[in-house]
Amino acid sequence: MGLTKTIWAGPRDYLRANAPEDPVLFFAPAVLQATARRFLDGFPGLVTYAVKSNPDETVVQNLAAAGVQGYDVASPAEMRLIRRLAPDAAMHYNNPVRSRSEIAVAVDLGIRSYSVDSHSELTKLIEMVPAAGTEITVRFKLPVNGAAYNFGAKFGASVDLAVELLRRVAGAGFIPSITFHPGTQCADPMAWDSYIRTAAEIARAAGVAIARLNVGGGFPSHRTIDGLPRLDEIFALIDRVTDEAFGDARPALVCEPGRGIVADAFTLATRVKAVRDGAHVFLNDGIYGALAELPLIGLIDRIDVVDEFGRPRRADPVERIVFGPTCDSVDRLPGMVSLPGDLAEGDFVIFHGMGAYSTVTNTRFNGFGNLTIATALSLRG
Ligand SMILES: *Cc1c(COP(=O)(O)O)cnc(C)c1O
Repeated sequence: MGLTKTIWAGPRDYLRANAPEDPVLFFAPAVLQATARRFLDGFPGLVTYAVKSNPDETVVQNLAAAGVQGYDVASPAEMRLIRRLAPDAAMHYNNPVRSRSEIAVAVDLGIRSYSVDSHSELTKLIEMVPAAGTEITVRFKLPVNGAAYNFGAKFGASVDLAVELLRRVAGAGFIPSITFHPGTQCADPMAWDSYIRTAAEIARAAGVAIARLNVGGGFPSHRTIDGLPRLDEIFALIDRVTDEAFGDARPALVCEPGRGIVADAFTLATRVKAVRDGAHVFLNDGIYGALAELPLIGLIDRIDVVDEFGRPRRADPVERIVFGPTCDSVDRLPGMVSLPGDLAEGDFVIFHGMGAYSTVTNTRFNGFGNLTIATALSLRG
């Protein structure tokens, strides 16, 4: 993955000048900083960034410049990245399962916040992490719908277990907190409602006043033309429900968005390698590349098609089967993709909102995936 130094006006400008044969991700720092400010100004608590969604160094540098002062990290590599790029920022080690050697690295790097969802992992933390001034956040789960896929399938204690864990955390002298993750691309603000109310019940049942409530990531990005993220509505709901549920015992709030902050700052340009016998479209990128997430959470319909000179294709849309470049038959975009009827070999198919879970999951399978990142002033042009 290379980083071009030139700053382009927009994707079309670059495509005209370079006619790239490999996929290109366009990054607009101005869009990233504006989205970060929406969170910093609107969320009623501390905004931390979930590094796994896009750990690109320029992303972290731009977030730090915009004022993001906390990062959700899951591995020693992510911790070291943040220490290097944002040395004064807080790190929350919110991967609930860790090896002892990973915990040792975290202690060494001075990490003061850890999440947990099981007795065995809490035992490891109690044995290895000095309690004074360190927060342990109990992660619980509920069967909630509304997200693109369910995060509770892997992590999160049941409500009863969360009560036990919270008591143990407080008893061992750590700062007790609670967290949950409602699931990624959670478009419905109500997804946070029952989680926050249940968190308050857990704290009451445990007889523990929690210091902070971390309401997770899961904030939506703009994936469908009609689906503008309703961030302000979500922030207002979180604020109101926290008041209602906790009353005088209201904890400080934390959020840890990944997708919601970074996705809309990137646009992916793929190229049409072939329109096989006038039917199936083959792109130079697919599910082993930057489009890895589409089969998991659904198609993005914010798509533009331009010809090799950057001129928009405008014919009426036709539903197409779209394949990626590898020889694996699962390398196909989900469902049918609506693309202009005059689409032709050599055109560029441009997907917006591609900044999260794209660079990180891009593979070199079958020799493809030579992704370039180019910086752009705007992603519209
Ligand atoms: C992945 C993850 C996030 C970020 O999720 P998004 O849906 O990208 O906002 C936040 N917190 C934890 C613990 C995660 O694992």
